[in-house]
Amino acid sequence: MLDNYEEVVSFDGQNRFTIQARPGEAHGRPGWDEYFLGIASAVSQRGDCVRRRVGAVIARPDHRTAGTGYNGVPPGAPGCIERPCLRVSKAERGEEICPGYSDCRSVHAEANALLDANRDDCVGATLYCTDDPCQGCLKLIRGAGIARVVTPHKEMNP
Ligand SMILES: [Zn+2]
Ligand SMILES: [Zn+2]
Repeated sequence: MLDNYEEVVSFDGQNRFTIQARPGEAHGRPGWDEYFLGIASAVSQRGDCVRRRVGAVIARPDHRTAGTGYNGVPPGAPGCIERPCLRVSKAERGEEICPGYSDCRSVHAEANALLDANRDDCVGATLYCTDDPCQGCLKLIRGAGIARVVTPHKEMNP
């Protein structure tokens, strides 16, 4: 599915993608994986932590979008950009930060995408994310019945 992936999607380090014409593909029309990773990249721009912006999209087997999410706090709470989270404070002090990102108060993009989707739409679906899911999100992804996870770095069956 991700044949020639490196050739068609370039990644600028800020989770923004440039989709180029796939060799032999008419008019540079992206495949489904490139299409949904491009949407995940657009969604990630709303990410609400100064440390990282992540976007996720859930696509049903019939290629309909079932839900989207970015890393952000629950509605009504101040975001990490407005009021720095522990992760941001620790990083500013040069202290060790948690590799699983649990020291940020934002809900992860993957979890927010699952909360945005209907339960039935998640079963057998693909979750696209601009970053590799942490162990906590992988548990939620498995629990929701997602069949496949695609990131710019890899593809897996959770
Ligand atoms: Zn944060
Ligand atoms: Zn996570």
